Amino acid sequence: MTQRIALIGHPVAHSLSPAFQQAALDALGVDARYEAWDLLPEELPMAAERLRSAELLGANVTVPHKQAMLRFIDRPDALVERVGALNTIVRRESLLHATNTDVSGILSALEAADANPRGMRVVLLGAGGAARAVVVAMRLGGAASLTVANRTIERAEALVALGGDELPIAVCSLGAGDPALRAAMEGADLVVHSTTLGMSHGPDEGGSPLLPDMFHRGQVAFDLVYVPERTPFLLAAEVAGARPLGGLAMLVHQGAESFRLWTGYEPPLEVMFRAARTALATRQA
Ligand code: NAP
Repeated sequence: MTQRIALIGHPVAHSLSPAFQQAALDALGVDARYEAWDLLPEELPMAAERLRSAELLGANVTVPHKQAMLRFIDRPDALVERVGALNTIVRRESLLHATNTDVSGILSALEAADANPRGMRVVLLGAGGAARAVVVAMRLGGAASLTVANRTIERAEALVALGGDELPIAVCSLGAGDPALRAAMEGADLVVHSTTLGMSHGPDEGGSPLLPDMFHRGQVAFDLVYVPERTPFLLAAEVAGARPLGGLAMLVHQGAESFRLWTGYEPPLEVMFRAARTALATRQA
């Protein structure tokens, strides 16, 4: 029987995951199909029931359902509890297990770029869903401190508790004129961008939260946005001599971890990166 893996979100047509997950399945000869399920909130109960059937290995869950799917999960792991959101479901017998591979995706992407956050002073721009995974990753990765800058300051404040006792978190506003942000940027080894600014086809396409004068040489600038591959944030960082790291690495690494959980196989990272870059090129064309 050909098995299936679902990508649950809305919309999902733009996603690169089907391209690189199917390439990985095919490369290892796994008889499975990775398919996009574009679902409205009211369709989630039906989707959860489908996921319990024997032909489903599991699912990825993306925006806007990463929290809403939680109520259908039998066994959320500790990461899901910490982040408050899931991105991967694995069916075992008829039970749905869930984890959040965004956290390991962030850490693996940084590790692969020789930018392990251990001991680093980190600035995080944005405080939405993806930012929650960044905070947990920085805590588990042993960052020395974190400053969260967001347009809506209350959302940044809501992330402070995620740092626990290990990771001290300060908050400030995302305005370039904010002296607290300027001071944090001067001391930062790593700057992570998790707003939607600069995303192709988004409302703020072409936008960057920071101009080059806020970065400095030696800093690592990590953008979670991956379309386009060279975002306005990365270009601004590069002008100042900072080291740019695009969001594609996180995307592929989180997907690779999900692949490992569904199939039990070591994910073919090179195949996945190649397929993701090819799919990205067609989106950017
Ligand atoms: P989200 O929950 O909707 O959060 C959006 C964030 O962007 C909030 O902090 C919001 O600030 C901020 N924002 C939106 N418009 C803004 C503007 N005009 N000026 C300043 N700030 C603005 O989104 P998300 O799920 O966290 O995703 C954020 C980004 O990460 C997206 O581009 C997504 O594609 C990317 N992402 C990448 C990966 C990957 O694997 N590489 C994984 C997950 C997400 P307010 O709180 O003030 O509204």
